[in-house]
Amino acid sequence: MSVSLGEPSRPLRVAIVGSGPSGFYAAEALQKTDLAVQIDVFDRLPTPFGLVRGGVAPDHPKIKNVTRVYEKIASRDGFGFFGNVTIGRDVPIEMLREYYDATILCYGAETDRRLGIPGEDLPGSHTATAFVGWYNGHPDYREHEFDLSAEVAAVVGQGNVAADVARILAKSVDELRATDIAAHALDALAESRVREVHVIGRRGPAQAKFTPPELREFGRLESCVATVEGAIELSPTSAAEVEGSKDLQKNIATLEGYAANDAAGASREVRFRFLESPVAIEGDGRVERLVLERNRLEGDAGRQRAVPTGEHVTLDCGLVFRSIGYRGIALPGVPFDDRWGGIPNTAGRVTDGDTVVPGLYAAGWIKRGPSGVVGTNKPDAVETVRCLLEDLPTLTPCATPDSAPLARHLASRGLRVVSYDDWRRIDAAEIARGTAAGKPREKGTSVDELLGFLDA
Ligand code: NAP
Repeated sequence: MSVSLGEPSRPLRVAIVGSGPSGFYAAEALQKTDLAVQIDVFDRLPTPFGLVRGGVAPDHPKIKNVTRVYEKIASRDGFGFFGNVTIGRDVPIEMLREYYDATILCYGAETDRRLGIPGEDLPGSHTATAFVGWYNGHPDYREHEFDLSAEVAAVVGQGNVAADVARILAKSVDELRATDIAAHALDALAESRVREVHVIGRRGPAQAKFTPPELREFGRLESCVATVEGAIELSPTSAAEVEGSKDLQKNIATLEGYAANDAAGASREVRFRFLESPVAIEGDGRVERLVLERNRLEGDAGRQRAVPTGEHVTLDCGLVFRSIGYRGIALPGVPFDDRWGGIPNTAGRVTDGDTVVPGLYAAGWIKRGPSGVVGTNKPDAVETVRCLLEDLPTLTPCATPDSAPLARHLASRGLRVVSYDDWRRIDAAEIARGTAAGKPREKGTSVDELLGFLDA
């Protein structure tokens, strides 16, 4: 007898790997169909929301309000959360096929691109990923140590992550105290001696990837002045790029304002530098300086690239933060493209060479690379779910359409699966702890601590 997936008698069963924005938007897109669906969302952490919890800066609370939308999605019938479960380790991807008709991989891009220069791993040279995870209380980075005793720090890269890193370094502790920043980070930042933060772009001011509000924030910091090294000069090609983009016009106006600032007397300075590429990080046992090579731009408007000029400059600094973009990691049993660090796919259908892998889909950063803001993941996930729905007649129904045996399998391995109700209890405990400290929440920063909230 053939099975009709999505009938009340046999709901369509979908596993979603990763509970960040793309995972929730994929779940929502499935909920918006007329089908009966059971959606189980897996996350390796006991907590949901991915980068909204572990990536969005603590001083950007409005962006985090989107979790209210995710709460609604999670409260609908047919939504299950399997927190603290690592797909690929606790549950091989093949095992998901036993219990689910389709799987959507939404596990983001959690590692960093490398500069590939000498000295990259010297103590004092950090990835933005680690710093962001650390100040956001992500369990992976709880033990990471940041020695903030140097006066000069370099941030390499000019995207919004670099902006977050530079801003957190530049803000006073009073500006951060009432946020959900991790207590260990607030303590370390209170002792920070960083006074100068150089934000370094390999291309020019017209090519910096900051969004205008993020760049403008540097003009509103309490005890920090934003400046620019040299003047803002645009070649005719760059001027043409700016002409064609409202956002670039705003950024250039902001940078021109910064270029007119004087940091004398300020307790901190964030200095934007352009057309410089790091070629070496040097120091005796730890970072002491960053060697930069000056660049010029070549190419047509919109596609200009940095070309080295052979001229070098040295920046004496004790800290380097590399913020040049994220990369995804491979999941055992799933095709992976090592060149760009994501899962090969066509509109969300996972591909292996020229072949589509039946029943396997991707959404979010692992599908398209690390670009866009939180909301960008919504149309991206909708596109993937549309493909899944088109494929419905050809999907092979899973052999065991039931989540309970999978839960039993995990329990038999001694794994403590965190349900969505469990997460609500963790959430309440964090908020209560935060209220006592005058913060929106005080996060649990290790898996044990998070699970401990459930035993309290
Ligand atoms: P990004 O926007 O892609 O910026 C990466 C930066 O690194 C660019 O300036 C890039 O320069 C530079 N870069 C890359 N390779 C380099 C190299 N080898 N040497 C020197 N510089 C190099 O990435 P991101 O900052 O990691 O952000 C990821 C996404 O998250 C973005 O879409 C961002 O907008 C989003 N995000 C948003 C917010 C927010 O809305 N508040 C906050 C954080 C992140 P080129 O341009 O020359 O390649």
